[in-house]
Amino acid sequence: MTLSTELKRDVLDENVPVSSLLRKALVIAKEIRDAKNERWISAELKGYADDEEVPDYRDITGRVIVRDHYTGWQYLYTQNLTPDKVKIISSFHFRAALSEYEGNAKQEFVAITYSERAERKLIELMGGGPMIPAIQFTGVQFQRILDSVRNKLVDWVSDLSDVQPANQSIERLSDRALMERAIELAKKCVSEPGKVSPKVGAVLARNGVIIGEAYRGELMPGDHAEFTLLEGKLGGEILTGATLFTTLEPCTTRNDPKIPCAVRVAERHIAKVFIGSLDRNDDIRGRGEFHLIDAGIQIDRFDPDLMPVLEELNREFIRSIRQRSRAETKDPVDPEAVGPNGFKIGYTENGDKVEWIEEDGETWPMILRRNDADILEMYNELWEKVWYIRKIIRFEKMQRGEVPYEDQNQPHLIKALERMKQIEDKYGLENLVWPDVEWGIVQGKLSALSWVMGSEWEGSLDT
Ligand SMILES: [Zn+2]
Repeated sequence: MTLSTELKRDVLDENVPVSSLLRKALVIAKEIRDAKNERWISAELKGYADDEEVPDYRDITGRVIVRDHYTGWQYLYTQNLTPDKVKIISSFHFRAALSEYEGNAKQEFVAITYSERAERKLIELMGGGPMIPAIQFTGVQFQRILDSVRNKLVDWVSDLSDVQPANQSIERLSDRALMERAIELAKKCVSEPGKVSPKVGAVLARNGVIIGEAYRGELMPGDHAEFTLLEGKLGGEILTGATLFTTLEPCTTRNDPKIPCAVRVAERHIAKVFIGSLDRNDDIRGRGEFHLIDAGIQIDRFDPDLMPVLEELNREFIRSIRQRSRAETKDPVDPEAVGPNGFKIGYTENGDKVEWIEEDGETWPMILRRNDADILEMYNELWEKVWYIRKIIRFEKMQRGEVPYEDQNQPHLIKALERMKQIEDKYGLENLVWPDVEWGIVQGKLSALSWVMGSEWEGSLDT
């Protein structure tokens, strides 16, 4: 954001002190060589040296008050003075730095004493006597001084855009420069605690002039760059026809009730979107772009040589996505979601979905759902053990004559015995002979796992 855009925004914000507006304005006035306003702004900031120069809005009239020994502060009766004289003794040119009056504006009343010379003259005029005269002003009068300066600044900055191109002060940036600016913003992103977040920057411009810019998490952790820009910063602006430069394809799905960024971009009638890179998430990739195209928005890409820059910037995030199991992409974790014990839910490096239990200052993962690879490994192990035991049971039944006896030299039985030997070596004989109760558990586990794996266990329980 250029300084003048910033000033245009701030000047309308009653919470920004006029003195800080003046400091920005002074820089701009110098830049565009606006000598007349530079002198005015500087005088407002530092105070007026000469009474002659003090603008009328700094000339305010109060009520004369006097303090004597008997009555304390009293209004001075001025009926016996000419209006001219009253004006002279009750008005004041406030020449000091404007910041000095910001405090006064907050008071109900402010009493200003006269200079020593004026005080003597006044006492003389009043017919002498031991008293202290002063002028009483109201805080509202000081507020009016501040308002006058603010209004003058409003007039000045709103004319700036017309003046500046001639003075080369509003920069009209090329598409390339705006792409680079968006990347600069993306660099400012900081990952939210406990996860690697993508770094995303967004710039909105009209005819090469930046209207606003933002990055992910700039105002609130986790807030998307486009949301921060379009709602957080430019919620009250008309953005129709503007061009958005975003380092990442706008999102199309958010947890309800959040509105996806692609929808927001379309709602604001943005005319064109330059996209840095497509989303790595299968559920979003390409859809953000299509959503914008369907809304009649023109799409363009960042220059090809900037892609590797974006990839490098997001290397950690890309790595974490590559490592992410299919389950994690399909079953993303809501940042606010908590597990059965009330702690944060997330994924381990291994790809297990876990609840991060915090206990005695330590955090450990309680598995909610294993990653697919681990499930497969467990499934295979149990399947081998069950197969082995089924064979053992079959041989026992054979010996007891419960099933027809088979010649052990038959090729398929020789193969089975070889395989059984391999399984004994792999798991150890002691791990293969289960009492009945555990056998039941194994069957239960195996049928649960085959359900997870999508195959039917029941069909193979025929022995
Ligand atoms: Zn988004």
